[in-house]
Amino acid sequence: SFTVEKAIKWLEKINEKIQENKQYLTKLDQPIGDGDHGINMARGFQEVVTIVNEKEYDTVSDVMKATAMTVMSKVGGASGPLYGTAFLKMSLAFKEKEVIDDATFIHGLEEALNGIKQRGRAIHGEKTLVDVWEPVVNKLKQENNFQADLILNTAKAAMEKTKETMATKGRAAYFKENSIGHIDPGSASSFYLFEALAEVLE
Ligand code: ADP
Ligand code: MG
Ligand code: MG
Repeated sequence: SFTVEKAIKWLEKINEKIQENKQYLTKLDQPIGDGDHGINMARGFQEVVTIVNEKEYDTVSDVMKATAMTVMSKVGGASGPLYGTAFLKMSLAFKEKEVIDDATFIHGLEEALNGIKQRGRAIHGEKTLVDVWEPVVNKLKQENNFQADLILNTAKAAMEKTKETMATKGRAAYFKENSIGHIDPGSASSFYLFEALAEVLE
């Protein structure tokens, strides 16, 4: 089951990957955006790690809520409110749950995906982080349990596929056909989020 300890470990691993790949994420955002995605994410998740270690949390829901608030206020850009919504929806899905088993956790991720889609008014295939979240959530629902390598492979393939698509949402949409041939920065950061999750839950 997913515990407070695991939730914090997940956030720390996300942060490690984001910090390690800060330059890469920013580089992805240069040709089809404004070149700040790595900077935004690194600033936000560094602060997340600070706040989740500062205080004692009784529930996973509380950890997710604190994360949501920090991500919303510190990441900024288009991605901040979207990731913030994702963590907030997880917090709500885990509220009053004594034990977060695989089914509850998968439900939380599904709620997070729905929140991202609503907030961004995006559907699958528009070259946004939805393109990674949706296939991962669908795969998890299909399997109905958590298999680390399956999540990792699904997230990786989904991220790489964004290279072939044309952006119709976010800043990248201004580049029209020229957005084709580049990996979506938000899909790359979402890949790190799921890679971190796979490592924590395996
Ligand atoms: P900004 O574009 O404001 O500089 P970031 O660079 O931090 O913000 O984040 C850009 C990422 O946000 C994109 O790569 C894309 O994945 C995601 N994104 C942008 N707009 C949307 C949207 N409407 N719905 C879902 N995701 C979006
Ligand atoms: Mg940007
Ligand atoms: Mg920006």
